[in-house]
Amino acid sequence: MNEKRDTVSSKGNAVILKIYSVGHPVLRQQARSLSTEEIHSSLIQDLIANMRETMRDAPGVGLAAPQVGQSLQLTVIEDRIEYFKGVSEAELKERERSPIDFHAIINPEIELLSPPEVVAHEGCLSVPGFMAAVPRSRSVRVTCLDEHGEPKVIEATGWYARILQHEIDHLRGRLYIDLMQSDSFTTLENYQRHVKKQLP
Ligand code: ZN
Repeated sequence: MNEKRDTVSSKGNAVILKIYSVGHPVLRQQARSLSTEEIHSSLIQDLIANMRETMRDAPGVGLAAPQVGQSLQLTVIEDRIEYFKGVSEAELKERERSPIDFHAIINPEIELLSPPEVVAHEGCLSVPGFMAAVPRSRSVRVTCLDEHGEPKVIEATGWYARILQHEIDHLRGRLYIDLMQSDSFTTLENYQRHVKKQLP
């Protein structure tokens, strides 16, 4: 799993993993699925714990295994209330964004329950320093295994549905820049300066 090589620092028992940036081939591969036995292994349980700490350290609301150099169908998601500090109530409402407890998604199948017509800016830890407007479906259904290897069906709308689409794309070798409205591509700094002030 190359975890030693990819470790950048440690925090308690968990380690902060190196996040791969756009251009690395692992981000363009179709990731392989995990068996239930593998999910129960300490190798994968440790990877999930390390991905959780890496996502919180970044910070980010989602992290997929290919982003830490592992071509596996595994992603973790968490949206915390403390991340809402710089976001207005109106924007949270517009985005349909509310806190999401930490969880892992393994071997997902995703079904888009509405056309990809909700446009909002998103960023990616593998495309650091940039954002762009990406059309996504408002609601999705995801069939997957959880971190215990148990089958799970998630129905999500709004921001959670957007995160699911973004993260599951990573497992298919797809990045938001493939789907973005390219004339909206912006540095984070210019997003804060020019785009965010136009939001509700
Ligand atoms: Zn991403």
